Amino acid sequence: MWSPRAQIDRMRFMEQWRQKLDAIEQLDMWQDSVLQLIFDGENVVGVETALKKKFYAPKVILTVGTFLGGLMHFGSTMLPGGRVSEPASYGITDQLIQMGFVAGRMKTGTPARIDGRSVDWSLTTLQEGDAEFNAFSFLSTPDMPRMPQLPCHILYTNEECHEILRGSLDESPLYNGQIDSIGPRYCPSIETKIVTFADKTAHQLFLEPEGAVTNEYYLNGFSSSLPMETQIKALKSIPALRNVRIYRPGYAIEYDYFDPTQLQHTLETKQIAGLYFAGQINGTTGYEEAAGQGLIAGINAHNALKGREPFILGRNEAT
Ligand SMILES: Cc1cc2nc3c(=O)[nH]c(=O)nc-3n(C[C@H](O)[C@H](O)[C@H](O)COP(=O)(O)OP(=O)(O)OC[C@H]3O[C@@H](n4cnc5c(N)ncnc54)[C@H](O)[C@@H]3O)c2cc1C
Repeated sequence: MWSPRAQIDRMRFMEQWRQKLDAIEQLDMWQDSVLQLIFDGENVVGVETALKKKFYAPKVILTVGTFLGGLMHFGSTMLPGGRVSEPASYGITDQLIQMGFVAGRMKTGTPARIDGRSVDWSLTTLQEGDAEFNAFSFLSTPDMPRMPQLPCHILYTNEECHEILRGSLDESPLYNGQIDSIGPRYCPSIETKIVTFADKTAHQLFLEPEGAVTNEYYLNGFSSSLPMETQIKALKSIPALRNVRIYRPGYAIEYDYFDPTQLQHTLETKQIAGLYFAGQINGTTGYEEAAGQGLIAGINAHNALKGREPFILGRNEAT
């Protein structure tokens, strides 16, 4: 429950937010899929969508994530998609290859989502969030009322769990040749961890709440492309998860990316003037890196339009 004081703070915060949104009211939105880019010689001049709408623009920034040619792997079951329940995107990769770009395939993965009502919380270790509150968004204000924080919980895999996973490695698309693309550096799958660190008898996992009003938990550390039945069997060997129910299994996803050596430091492509790439399309690994690249591409597209100097950060400045 919000205290009367917190409610007043919240209303003040919402009002400040509304004022900030008014300031960006010149931004138009359109929800659709881009099927192809529109070129004029070696310049990009716009995009065309599935609804046959053409948008003309002197600068285009592609932030397509894992959606270009996205293919999800649940054991031997393969489903096209950019993420679960979201369609993959086709056409842009072929067009860019025809324009001289070099494309490759990368893969990443995600863990099962756990139903918190099926977890024996007494067999996990509580881990509270940060005590200090540091805002990240420019929309935040120092006196912003703090949202109630939810804790995470720590648990561990064990040798029985590793044995189940090891026994099913030939069903893992990562190990049986079904996937041959490489992943960005971080977030190794649980099957990769038991192979790479074969001497370890346990790996730490975190149950992270997906939101304040849901029973869904993200099982950080247990990313997997193994068949769903194997994932569930392995999870059930962990004491806190003996009776586990899941919302959905983990999976691996392969997608098209473009070697970032084809970019200038502004993130504008070397081949096509006015075309910028940001985020996972460049083979990035995580949220923060993708967000940082979006910012750099956006600033530089804007600066170029205004005839201003490029905004380029050195390695020692961009941390
Ligand atoms: C399964 C999975 C798990 C991940 N887990 C983590 C994690 O735990 N931690 C972490 O830091 N990172 C994780 N990542 C990576 C992280 O999600 C990405 O690095 C980051 O979101 C990439 O940001 P982005 O802006 O490049 O793309 P995204 O956030 O993927 O956004 C791409 C957007 O482009 C839209 N789009 C794509 N193609 C088209 C088109 N043709 N027309 C119109 N719209 C289009 C999509 O609908 C989507 O909204 C995960 C990624 C995946 C797929």
